[in-house]
Amino acid sequence: MLSYDEAIKLVLDNIAPLPAVEKPLDEAGGLVLAEAINARWDMPPADNSAMDGFAFDFNSWSAATALPVIGRSYAGHPLNESVPSGSAVRIMTGAPLPDGCDTVVPLEQVEENGDSIQLLKGCKPLQHVRFAAEEFHRGDLLLQTGTCLRAGEIGLLAAAGIARILVHPAPKVAILSTGDELVDLGEQPGPGQIVNSNLHLLSARLRESGAEVIPLGIALDDEADLDQRLQLGLQADLLLTSGGVSVGDKDQVQDAFVRNGFEKIFWKVAIKPGKPVLFGKIGPQPVFGLPGNPASSAATCELFTIPALRRLAGHQDPLPPRLKVRLAAPVKGGGKRQTFLWGSLHPESDGYLFTASNRQGSGQNRSLQRANALLPVAVDSPDLESGTLVEVLLMRLPAGEGIY
Ligand code: AMP
Ligand code: MG
Repeated sequence: MLSYDEAIKLVLDNIAPLPAVEKPLDEAGGLVLAEAINARWDMPPADNSAMDGFAFDFNSWSAATALPVIGRSYAGHPLNESVPSGSAVRIMTGAPLPDGCDTVVPLEQVEENGDSIQLLKGCKPLQHVRFAAEEFHRGDLLLQTGTCLRAGEIGLLAAAGIARILVHPAPKVAILSTGDELVDLGEQPGPGQIVNSNLHLLSARLRESGAEVIPLGIALDDEADLDQRLQLGLQADLLLTSGGVSVGDKDQVQDAFVRNGFEKIFWKVAIKPGKPVLFGKIGPQPVFGLPGNPASSAATCELFTIPALRRLAGHQDPLPPRLKVRLAAPVKGGGKRQTFLWGSLHPESDGYLFTASNRQGSGQNRSLQRANALLPVAVDSPDLESGTLVEVLLMRLPAGEGIY
């Protein structure tokens, strides 16, 4: 049986980033740049003041003399005349430095007497000036292709006047839930029925990771219904099913994939939970059959589907980020498959402590309550004592106890 490392390599080797599309900058948050961006102009465009204060020529100033104030320069209202040596202008933050000035003193360090100023303390040449192009020069590389655009990158591109950019679009992920026992959220389950909770967990997690989710509803464990609903998902960038991929009498998802042109890449990986995970392609479309048990479908989504999604979205490192943390409590080893334990991180003075959830049952949604990391435990690992340094796969960092 494939190991996780072998299986995830097959997933990533079989998926390419989606073709780039042009988007307005404001629609590109969270997306990945598909082009390098160079500056179209200098920033700042001209020398300007970093403080509210007075500007003058440093060499014409001496501690003994007062400087007459001959004008004002405001942001958006520059003083368009040269300032004679030995005089000053009132200047506000962001206002261009007039010709003849190279130094600014803050308002608080000046005594104003009618139309002249006296400096209350010494100053240094060129102080409190932001120089033309000190942030970037026209032609400078601002962002590399492959950069994920967050608020900071969007602000930088806006300052550089970049209104439209090439990005990889958000992948569309179709999710088909399977099982005769499932009812939609909002319905009262009858005898033997349960709510289709996987759809909601998977949708929430995939959206957090940048997907547009297309729910395909619940397919009965029935050939015709499975085929009909699968067809609805074949236009998406990635198709995901939950349930019906193990060896049970009613597990018909793989057969349904095959009837629709499936090229199997793997079925079953030596992991716990999530062993029956199925991966392949229908035409160019990557397709996952995730197991039905809630903690298994969530773990395989984390371990396989989110990296696949991130590869489609153009991320340079699609694998889950890893973080070194210490165990808050002992963890049992000795497993015959690589085991992934759900758990939560808590900040401590010099890092994070990981506490494994005390409900790891793959059938339980409660395994994932408060979970923000998965701990991989190797095949035949010894028992791990509390305090052991381990590496977890990070879903998100806690914002701090009590915050959420
Ligand atoms: P299966 O792989 O279809 O045999 O399902 C394994 C277990 O997961 C069964 O207990 C199912 O009832 C449960 N299950 C399957 N699909 C879902 C779902 N969408 N939401 C919640 N539980 C599910
Ligand atoms: Mg089923």
